[in-house]
Amino acid sequence: MMISFYPGPSRLYPQVKAYLKDAYDEGVMSINHRSEEFMAISRKTVALLKEKLNIPEDYSVCFVSSATECWEIIAQSLVREKSMHVYNGAFGKKWFDYSSRIKPGAAPYPYEAQEKLVHDYRVWDSADVICLTQNETSNGTEISNRLMHAIRRRYSGLIAVDATSSMGGVYLDFHTADVWFASVQKCFGLPAGLALMIYSPAALEQAREINDRSRYNSLLFLDEMMQRWQTPCTPNVLNIYLLMRVMEQRKSIIKVDAATRNRYRKWDAFFESGEQLKHFIKNPSVRSKTVLTIEGSTDHIRSVKQQAREAGFLLGEGYGELNESTLRIANFPALRQNEIARLMDFLSRHR
Ligand SMILES: *Cc1c(COP(=O)(O)O)cnc(C)c1O
Repeated sequence: MMISFYPGPSRLYPQVKAYLKDAYDEGVMSINHRSEEFMAISRKTVALLKEKLNIPEDYSVCFVSSATECWEIIAQSLVREKSMHVYNGAFGKKWFDYSSRIKPGAAPYPYEAQEKLVHDYRVWDSADVICLTQNETSNGTEISNRLMHAIRRRYSGLIAVDATSSMGGVYLDFHTADVWFASVQKCFGLPAGLALMIYSPAALEQAREINDRSRYNSLLFLDEMMQRWQTPCTPNVLNIYLLMRVMEQRKSIIKVDAATRNRYRKWDAFFESGEQLKHFIKNPSVRSKTVLTIEGSTDHIRSVKQQAREAGFLLGEGYGELNESTLRIANFPALRQNEIARLMDFLSRHR
């Protein structure tokens, strides 16, 4: 089987195979989503997420179907008129596009991918919600915890963060924002079709003031159903079960973070010394720890992707306009040490 280094959907935890069999044998796939069995799975999954990811006690967690859905929920339930979309790449831009179709007052605040984000309070202060993409999967950049702290200190409005390709892979200080979301096909090592939304008491308060109840997935409905460990619609019960099983065997995020950074440092040095394959992001201080974007000549990039495929590695395509000039490599926890070593060995002949 091809080893997927694609930054999502990506390699599954190998244990998923056994968990799927257990789910089948235990009848999990046919349980009713209003049953005690489901509520127990849901409650346990939330408890494990809170424990293993260091989610603050007073924050809530709910289950939705995708990160894209979270973009819409935020626009519907938390934005009065204006969301401020601070982005340097394709996912942040898409979030802006989705929001502006729902709340036309959405404002773009693009910044340069190669440079550290400089916050602009006079402009941002006018927004109900500031929308940040903590890990921009399309170009391999991140906003550090330290910068998140600095933003939090200076800004009093709600902050919503897309952490789809970093949550579960690196330590995130959830106190630095009000809403965090991620889908599970990236750092959680699970199949697509489930996402988590984590929100603070202040986010819930703002949702109550706005009182949007026009959609099945309005945050207030999600929150009310979650009081009984349920969801408004029939959720992806199988994936919630798999998430529970994966979180059971996971180490604390502090340990996972250390391992991710350790592996990242090796990849970082590997491409620092590359000649034909180099970091696309030149400024090391903004590089993502979970997604590497590597550039080269169009011919070389095409040939490396092709040869990697023949050698059993699926590399990530460049995203959008970077499609031909870059490739991406996931540094997600489910990847095995020996798989990374084999990919490095392969790439060392091409870099
Ligand atoms: C993958 C990704 C998304 C989209 O996730 P879906 O589950 O397909 O909605 C959104 N934002 C970022 C940063 C991503 O990496």
